[in-house]
Amino acid sequence: MHRYLNSVRNFGNKCIWLTKIATIVKALENLPLDLPSLVKLPGIGRKSANVILREAGRPAEGIIVDLHVLRVAPRIGIAEGRQPEKVEQQLMRLISKERWGEIGMAISFLGREVCRPTNPKCEVCVMNAVCCFYNGTQPDNRIFSDPSLFD
Ligand code: SF4
Repeated sequence: MHRYLNSVRNFGNKCIWLTKIATIVKALENLPLDLPSLVKLPGIGRKSANVILREAGRPAEGIIVDLHVLRVAPRIGIAEGRQPEKVEQQLMRLISKERWGEIGMAISFLGREVCRPTNPKCEVCVMNAVCCFYNGTQPDNRIFSDPSLFD
């Protein structure tokens, strides 16, 4: 498995987790497709569980909070803090449930393409009219770019 995953961050642990999950579920059709069951599997946190549900076409039970969302949401001013689960809870309270499946990916793509850790492209950003960072009411939060916070 290392041969196929060695370009992925933390691939050693991910190979171990995938092997354990395969041992537990035994077949793809046995993979649970609800968030509480998914997060009981080795190496699966809320972010991964939310991604799996989205990719499986299931209704969202939470919001994907990856490294980009963790940086961008506080910049915009719709969440605060640096703990993924706390940021997710704030976003879940703020955003209507029918948008949960898309909003995490939307913010993540904004972070990858526009709202970079350094030199965010605020002048061309679709959020600049409402963004606290751009409008001077939010400090820079480059410190939120800590990959160790995620599974
Ligand atoms: S306006 Fe700037 S800081 Fe705000 S979300 Fe857009 S790129 Fe990020």
